[in-house]
Amino acid sequence: MKQETLFIHAGAEPDPATGAIMTPIYQTSTFVQESPGVHKGYEYARTRNPTRTALETALATVENGKYGLCFASGSAASDAVIKLLNPGDEVIAANDMYGGTFRLFTKIFEKYGIKFHFINMQNANEVSKYINQNTKLIWTETPTNPMMNITDIAAVAEIAIKNHLLLCVDNTFASPYLQNPLDLGANIVLHSATKYIGGHSDSVLGALIVKDEELKNKLAFIQNSCGAIPGPQDCFLMLRGLKTLHVRMQRHCSNGEKIAHWLRNNPKVDKVYWAGFEDHPNHEIAKKQMRSYGGMMSFTLKDDSAEAAKNVLSSTKLFALAESLGGVESLIGHPSSMTHASIPREERIKNGLVDSLMRLSVGIEDADDLIEDLDNAIG
Ligand SMILES: *Cc1c(COP(=O)(O)O)cnc(C)c1O
Repeated sequence: MKQETLFIHAGAEPDPATGAIMTPIYQTSTFVQESPGVHKGYEYARTRNPTRTALETALATVENGKYGLCFASGSAASDAVIKLLNPGDEVIAANDMYGGTFRLFTKIFEKYGIKFHFINMQNANEVSKYINQNTKLIWTETPTNPMMNITDIAAVAEIAIKNHLLLCVDNTFASPYLQNPLDLGANIVLHSATKYIGGHSDSVLGALIVKDEELKNKLAFIQNSCGAIPGPQDCFLMLRGLKTLHVRMQRHCSNGEKIAHWLRNNPKVDKVYWAGFEDHPNHEIAKKQMRSYGGMMSFTLKDDSAEAAKNVLSSTKLFALAESLGGVESLIGHPSSMTHASIPREERIKNGLVDSLMRLSVGIEDADDLIEDLDNAIG
């Protein structure tokens, strides 16, 4: 079955009780048992809830996995992955990552004795240099936030397989429509469904998708024991969002392409970071592993003062100044003071995340209106 059909039908069985075509919001904490231990597969809603099960099944299907596990947020999903590890274990992670993930790793898990190596993963061979007998997990995000660097998932997966390491790919920026890391050899796909999957900036939810049953059992044990699960209402909104992911993504991609080229041709703009440019340093890999290039991009102005950036950030009318991404409406952000403020400044600048860098999440409005808005703000 084609991906476009799966987005609409995956996990969507008519409700067994009533035939409702949309999975109902099972707003219940517990399920009545016929006799002790005899039930319909549901006992207590932290462990399983039918609305969540429908979403977990749908996400597993669209990521070409076998099992989906949903969490209260993308961060709670990341937390569950690291809880697979023990003190003394080591993780090799891409240095250009979501600031909240960096904070989780360094401020929460380092104190439990887990060691993180943050490296430039644009060259997959770099990974091998950091592997020792304590290494258990490789973690990458691609395209990265906000520098739009690309990791060659298949090349890193080959290293992971050879060394018996787990590879987790945060696929939030690409969405399951543009990229499927499990097909390229990753063990775990992570989503902040808050972004493209939900798509309407109205709920927070995270997901993990895997193929291996033993790995699923370990993660389900953590999910149930730690309890960072999403409520049924949020699962319902994500199921609804998923049904239009492919049509939204098509528009995000075409708008993104127009705006990236327009920015690049603007004399006041200095650098534009977007993997769809043929001269992007990782364009060939992006072309190989992604179906298109998405609507996320970052740029700097020739006037590199924080002041000039601040002027643009406070002048756009359609691009709302806000954190987050992936919704139908366009957003503009300032990573160094917003999403990435939790990363030390010298660490940020080393990776190109300068104070004047601005990030766009291009929405699905009319492209010409968006360009006019940026044109007025950049001046
Ligand atoms: C937002 C985001 C997260 C965290 O997800 P939440 O749902 O906000 O907890 C993780 N990774 C990436 C790439 C993100 O953009």
